[in-house]
Amino acid sequence: MLEDTLSIKVKRVQESKINQVDWDNLSFGKVFSDHMLVMDYADGEWKLPEIVPFEDLSLHPATSAIHYGQSIFEGMKANKDADGNVLIFRPDLNARRFAESCERMCMPVIPEDFFTELIKKVVDLDRSWIPDQKGCALYIRPFLFATDHFIGIKPSDNYKFIIFTCPVGAYYSQPVYVKIEEFYTRAAEGGVGRAKTAGNYAASLYPAKLAQEKGFHQLVWTDAKEHKHIEESGTMNILFELDGKLITPSEDSDTILRSVTKRSAVEIAKHWGVEVEERRITVEEIVNALREGRLTDAFGAGTAATIAQIAKIGFRDELFELPPIESRTISTRIKNYLTDLKSGKIEDEMGWLLKF
Ligand SMILES: *Cc1c(COP(=O)(O)O)cnc(C)c1O
Repeated sequence: MLEDTLSIKVKRVQESKINQVDWDNLSFGKVFSDHMLVMDYADGEWKLPEIVPFEDLSLHPATSAIHYGQSIFEGMKANKDADGNVLIFRPDLNARRFAESCERMCMPVIPEDFFTELIKKVVDLDRSWIPDQKGCALYIRPFLFATDHFIGIKPSDNYKFIIFTCPVGAYYSQPVYVKIEEFYTRAAEGGVGRAKTAGNYAASLYPAKLAQEKGFHQLVWTDAKEHKHIEESGTMNILFELDGKLITPSEDSDTILRSVTKRSAVEIAKHWGVEVEERRITVEEIVNALREGRLTDAFGAGTAATIAQIAKIGFRDELFELPPIESRTISTRIKNYLTDLKSGKIEDEMGWLLKF
């Protein structure tokens, strides 16, 4: 049944909403395309997926995901090349991460190839929703949540998997200000930090709000035990250029969400011959480098934000200004490379694009 993807039932919208979109003023996550894919899990198996008009869901008030948080998601982007082909950046890695999130949260796994096939179907149907505007993309949001009507703590027996898409503009419209967080934590060892699960983001809201009140966009999380090591920032992994090397926290601990964008930045930098170190990075090391002017670049990496250059880093009562954006060779090079690759302007030498 799972293999039978060609026969996905499609119920099309009667009238497309595409003409209502203000394409020149796209923000992030507010506009939704015409269709969504829905696939239920029940009786120990995946039911047939269906593509239907994007519409509200009707939920039982005891739907277990709402109460107990068995809910995971993914995020990826589609663009178009000059010939109108759809390009999706490394969906195989998202499929794998989704499966890993499923495992950690006791949810039924969707076979990776099948996951990618479903993404393809729903994006193909709404391919006219992929924006052409610079910096814009069709954001793809697959998610899975527990749907048992049950009050009590146990893995649900029933689940709903949905993929919808939204044309989006830039996530950050300017270089970001971040603050190194030494009290609140995003993830502890043995916890769920490596899973893209809903509760992680709910837990980050309050500390992020406190930082935003002080004028920062995002936090830089440190390890939960000692707050001595740098982990990641908001929904981005973080990279620094220090003494001519690109450094980024290693993913050995299970507290960092393994970013596809970060992985790609590391791989392409190595391919260019840049020295890259994935290792533990202490706050002290970064702060000393900031004081001594040796930190020449810092940036976040994530699908939503792409490459987000960091302009200021707050630490305790200090605020460090980083070198001007014009001088950021490595982050600018990676950013331009990924942007050009995703829109088909340069050859896909790494074999990262799914094209259809
Ligand atoms: C999604 C996410 C990222 C970025 O991962 P990408 O695969 O690059 O999109 C980084 N950190 C967290 C916490 C995330 O949720």
